[in-house]
Amino acid sequence: MTTQFAEINQETQPQAVEGLQPAELNKLNNWTNLDAVCPVGKWKGTPISQMPEPTLRWFAKNWQANPRYADSVAFREAVDRWLISHPEPQRIQREGMFRDEQGRVFRVQQAQAGHLYALMLEPASGQFVYIRGSMGGLSEANRLTLDQCKEIGKAIGRCVVCGARLTDPASVERGIGPICATRL
Ligand SMILES: [Zn+2]
Repeated sequence: MTTQFAEINQETQPQAVEGLQPAELNKLNNWTNLDAVCPVGKWKGTPISQMPEPTLRWFAKNWQANPRYADSVAFREAVDRWLISHPEPQRIQREGMFRDEQGRVFRVQQAQAGHLYALMLEPASGQFVYIRGSMGGLSEANRLTLDQCKEIGKAIGRCVVCGARLTDPASVERGIGPICATRL
């Protein structure tokens, strides 16, 4: 009996979450019961698929199921599974280059006061501009690797770290300035 159960679990339970391919993520979402309905409060009767992400995070963190009610237990289990496929975005802890969902490139740097802030690169001018609230839209998942910075640099003809136009043939080839490359 126990063995049977373990076998079933192995089949249905996804192995790892990090670096999930879209197909795997879909599988995980199918495995999560997105039709499970919220049993309490303002969202009572609403399926998980229609609940906003912050609300689901709140339930995941603060809400306990009532073991006497099957719908309550089912909802709790579904929320736990949803959480596996939607890990909390990791906050940025150190300086670097980032790209948001809209494809905008940001340089995150530390202010003298100690906090981090983001400046957006304007590809045409090479200027870095401050956009209020832009840190809120970035997480560690948005961090650019050196290779990605080079790729963007080649595409726009500028070093993404400092915004300077790439003129030196070696830098054009590399897609980033020599000193800036060492900063990443
Ligand atoms: Zn540079």
